[in-house]
Amino acid sequence: MFEYAPAPESRSVVDIKPSYGLFVDGKFVDPVDGGSFKSINPASEEVLAEIAEAGNEDVDRAVRAARKAYQKVWGPMPGRDRAKYLFRIARIIQERSRELAVLESLDNGKPIKESRDVDVPLVAAHFFYYAGWADKLPHAGFGPNPQPLGVAAQVIPWNFPLLMLAWKIAPALAAGNTVVLKPAETTPLTALLFAEICQQADLPAGVVNIVTGAGETGRALVEHPGVDKVAFTGSTDVGKAIARAVAGTRKKLTLELGGKAANIVFDDAPVDQAVEGIVNGIFFNQGHVCCAGSRLLVQESVADRVLESLKRRMAQLRVGDPLDKNTDIGAINSAAQLARIRELTEAGAAEGAERWSPPCDLPERGFWFAPTIFTGVTQAHRIAREEIFGPVLSVLTFRTPAEAVEKANNTPYGLSAGIWTDKGSRILWMADRLRAGVVWANTFNKFDPTSPFGGYKESGYGREGGRHGLEAYLNV
Ligand code: NAD
Repeated sequence: MFEYAPAPESRSVVDIKPSYGLFVDGKFVDPVDGGSFKSINPASEEVLAEIAEAGNEDVDRAVRAARKAYQKVWGPMPGRDRAKYLFRIARIIQERSRELAVLESLDNGKPIKESRDVDVPLVAAHFFYYAGWADKLPHAGFGPNPQPLGVAAQVIPWNFPLLMLAWKIAPALAAGNTVVLKPAETTPLTALLFAEICQQADLPAGVVNIVTGAGETGRALVEHPGVDKVAFTGSTDVGKAIARAVAGTRKKLTLELGGKAANIVFDDAPVDQAVEGIVNGIFFNQGHVCCAGSRLLVQESVADRVLESLKRRMAQLRVGDPLDKNTDIGAINSAAQLARIRELTEAGAAEGAERWSPPCDLPERGFWFAPTIFTGVTQAHRIAREEIFGPVLSVLTFRTPAEAVEKANNTPYGLSAGIWTDKGSRILWMADRLRAGVVWANTFNKFDPTSPFGGYKESGYGREGGRHGLEAYLNV
C-alpha cells in the first residue's frame, strides 16, 4: 500500500478549559445539586475536561429559564428577528469551523476529514436553512399562523454530537420555541462551545440552555412537567422508556432511534461505485451511524466479485489518529461501545458466520476496532438482526428483487436503505416496497438540511430536516 506521511491537524486552534459548568439562562453556572464527570479523548484515553453533571434542581432551573425566555422574548419576537440570530449563529459556526471540527474529533474520535468536511458544514447548513424559514412559517403548509409549542427538551447521542444538536436546535428556534438540550455524556464539548457561540451571537438569555450529564439528567429533563415537547435521538430501548414516560402527558414527542439498514447491490450495478457506497455506508464515522448500511444484500451472481473488490478496498482504509487528515477510520467512541461491538462480533463468529478484517495495526492506547466483514450470515444471526453500531458489515445474498425486499424488510427497524442498480424502474419498484424512512439510490449516507429524515417501526417516529422538521416544533 502507498504510505502517507503523518499529516496531523493542529489542536492548538482549540482552547479546552479544565472544567465546564452548565449553560443556563445565558451564563455558565455551577450545578446546584449535581456532580461532575470527565470527558475523555477516545483515541488516547486522555482526560479532556471535567464536566458538570446536572441534577434535578439544575434541570428545573434550565427549564424555568427557557420558559421565561419563551414568554418574554423569543415567543413574541417576529420571525424576521429570530432569523437574524439564526443567520448570525450559522455564520459564526462557519468562522469557527476549524475549531469546532478539531474539538469534535478530539471528543468523539471521528476522523478530522469527516468532522471538517461533513459534520461542521452540515451544522452550518442547518442553521442557514432554518433561518430562512423563521419568517416564512405561514407559508410552510401548516396553516396561516402556526404557533410554537413552547419549551423543547432535547436529548442527543454521541455519534454526531454537533450535527444532532443542529438538527434539534435550528428548527426549534426557527419555529419560535426555546430549548434545553442535553448532549451525550461522552461528547459534551462541542455543545458547550456552541453555548459560547450563542453568547457571541448575543442570543437572548434562556433561549438555548445546555445541561450536561448522563441518563439520569436526560430522564429528569424529559420528565420535567414544564416542557411542552420532547425530541430524542438515541437507542431504541431508551426511546421506548421515554415514550412510556411521556404517554398521557400533553408533551409532543419525536423519536429518532436505531437502525439495521440493508444496502442492496444488484448484478447490473457498477461494482466499483457500489463498493465505494458499501464502504461509505458502513465505515463512515466508524459505523456509529443510525442509518449505516450494516447489512449488505448482494445478488448471488455477483457476490464473489463484489466481495473481492470490497476486501481489496478495505485493505486500503487507514485506521488511526483521528486528527490525521489521511485517516479513514478513527477511534470507537467509548470503552462501553467497544465492548458491545466485541460482544456482537464474537456472537457472529460463534453462530457460524465467517469473519474477515484486513491486516491493520491498531494504536496501543484508546479504543479501536478494525473494519470487519462477516460472510455466510443468515437472517437468524444476531449480527443480522441487532444494531452493532461499529465498523462491522454483515453480508447476505439474494437471487430475486422480491427476495431482496423481503430480507431488507425483515428487521424491527426501518430507518434507511440503499439500492445499487443500473435500472431506474427497479429503483422505483424497490423504493416503493422498502419500509425505510430514507432510500438512497446509487449512493449512501447523503444528508441535506432540506430533506426529511426519520424512521418506521422501532426506528422511531416524526421527521427531522426540511419543511417536515418544522412540523415537530409547531402546534399543528
Ligand atoms: P442512548 O439511548 O444510550 O443515549 C442517547 C442519549 O440519551 C444520551 O444523551 C443519554 O445520556 C440519554 N439517556 C440515556 N438514558 C436516558 C433516559 N432514561 N432518559 C433520557 N435520556 C437518556 O444511545 P447512545 O448509545 O448514546 O446512541 C446510540 C444510539 O442512537 C444508536 O442506537 C443509534 O442508532 C441511535 N441514533 C439514532 C439516530 C437517528 O436519527 N435515528 C441518530 C444517531 C443515533
